[in-house]
Amino acid sequence: MMLTRFAPSPTGELHLGHAHSALFAYKAAEQVGGRFIVRIEDIDQGRCRPEFTQSILTDLAWLGLVWESPVRCQSEHFNDYRAALALLEGEGLLYPCFCTRKDIAEQTARSGHAPHGPDGVLYPGSCRALPMAERMARVAAGEAYALRLDTAEALRRVGLLRWHDRRAGMVEARPEMFGDVVLARKDTPTSYHLAVTVDDALQGVTLVTRGEDLFAATHVHRLLQAILDLPVPDYAHHRLLTDASGRRYAKRDRSLTLRALREAGRSPDEVRAMAGAGPG
Ligand code: GLU
Repeated sequence: MMLTRFAPSPTGELHLGHAHSALFAYKAAEQVGGRFIVRIEDIDQGRCRPEFTQSILTDLAWLGLVWESPVRCQSEHFNDYRAALALLEGEGLLYPCFCTRKDIAEQTARSGHAPHGPDGVLYPGSCRALPMAERMARVAAGEAYALRLDTAEALRRVGLLRWHDRRAGMVEARPEMFGDVVLARKDTPTSYHLAVTVDDALQGVTLVTRGEDLFAATHVHRLLQAILDLPVPDYAHHRLLTDASGRRYAKRDRSLTLRALREAGRSPDEVRAMAGAGPG
């Protein structure tokens, strides 16, 4: 049976763009008599706030969405991400990276060329080349480190991968465009890419719906599915809802948060119509 999800990060109030995304997931399940869940992606403890989690759930219920309990909050499941990391570590696919942003900027400047990926400058890979003894000594000395995926090695092992998007069709996975992605941050034992991939599999999501701004991230998720031996869901990356002047909705549009619209007397039907009026 189809299972879709809406997976917001509680870093602010939901706006019309989120409502569009939530309704997109909800309708995709509803149309085929499928199931729908909400997941709170709160791994970034510095930016996420419990009061936003509460207001997200209030807004979604007000909009008329119904989801299955319990709502999974990622911050309560770090052990699941640690287990995935241990598996990859055992496969020799991770390495500790001690670099700061400044180190990376300096290394890139020194090398004279700065290849970019979807998330900015590619990591030049300096920590991948550290001798094992140095790695171990620095970890033992308590130096902070992130865990990066050795993307080239992972790709060498799994070969060519594909995934399916309902708008784009069959897509050949090209995770190398992200370089060695971070799978565990210095401050959190996971990253967006790892947590979302593990959770979609653990929760049995069969259709991942989200904005097309996250289309490229799916290249990485497909590789993680292959090396973690996880099922591959179908994907539907939707266009982003824009305002009358063509701008994406963002946190700055305070008047268009669902709470503000509700408090201004708009009905759920009106807001659903505003949020559904996007290009689909
Ligand atoms: N938590 C992500 C966000 O709020 C969405 C993740 C996803 O749908 O894959 O942007």
